[in-house]
Amino acid sequence: MATKTTIEIDAGSRTFSSGLLPELIAALRRCRTGDLLGVIGREAEIGADLEAWCRFTRNALIGAATAADRTRWVIRCGEAPTADADRPVGSRLWLYTNFDCNLHCDYCCVRSSPQAPQRALGLERVRRIANEAAELGVNEVFVTGGEPFLLADIGAILSTCSAAAPTTVLTNGMLFTGRRLETLRSLPRDRLTLQISLDSPTPGRHDRHRGAGTWVRAWRGVERARAEGFRVRLAATVSTEAEAEEFRRFLDARQIAEEDRVIRRIALRGVAIQGIALARADLVPEITITADGVYWHPVGAEDADLLVTSEIFPLADAFAAVRRAFDQESEHQRRLAQIFNCA
Ligand code: SF4
Repeated sequence: MATKTTIEIDAGSRTFSSGLLPELIAALRRCRTGDLLGVIGREAEIGADLEAWCRFTRNALIGAATAADRTRWVIRCGEAPTADADRPVGSRLWLYTNFDCNLHCDYCCVRSSPQAPQRALGLERVRRIANEAAELGVNEVFVTGGEPFLLADIGAILSTCSAAAPTTVLTNGMLFTGRRLETLRSLPRDRLTLQISLDSPTPGRHDRHRGAGTWVRAWRGVERARAEGFRVRLAATVSTEAEAEEFRRFLDARQIAEEDRVIRRIALRGVAIQGIALARADLVPEITITADGVYWHPVGAEDADLLVTSEIFPLADAFAAVRRAFDQESEHQRRLAQIFNCA
């Protein structure tokens, strides 16, 4: 059944460049936030123009359906109930450079381990992503894995990303020796942050999840990265609020700034057998690219329910697909909220 709208515009054969835009603006002025507006037309280019126009004007293109030779696009007046205004969808981009890892943590949300196939994104794709991302409003890049520093070309990958936008690389911090230390030394301090995993103030809990001796080696990595002049953010994955509070005290005692700490709960994804169950609808999208496609969010970025499209390029289309899906799902939730309005 077609979505019921407040106003319908029949564009006929008009497009944005031949008279459609003034009528569209006039119709939206008659709408209230949340009203739906339908546009029916024959020209395929209207879709791309509406997509871009809605993004700039903070309206939401929430659907398109084609029958015979005509398409009906539906616009929601005003932004869908959403994402943090300070962090619009697509401003933050995640790249999974690989899935193999030197560790096999018992809560890994993407099943990484020394046995996991590498599934490398590859430098060429990273270069293209970095080029295209600059045009799409990406202002932060996060590089993760697996363990990114297992890759021989991680230096070139991180240099490419940090030239495009300030970049954070997530690492277990355990590989900064030999040629990998040389790679680290070659990287730009001003555009690259190292986010190193440390789950507890002392080795016990960290080592139980991540393997014997890993806390000591991770802490050595923290100290080495700092000594090399890098900004280091400490990231703990915890099971309870008490564990989070204990880690906060540890960070306070070391005067670690708020912006250099991340404390999050274990997600029930990947190999985790306990943690917070997260459905796609619980997550505001943070566009995430792996060798297998474009995902909704980095947590669980290999699970079928989070795959948005297996086509990475053109990146603008991939971003549009995520935004469109988010707008549609937000609209759906808004309607459900109305349907289940009990009083
Ligand atoms: S949680 Fe991080 S360090 Fe542990 S297995 Fe997964 S990717 Fe590797």
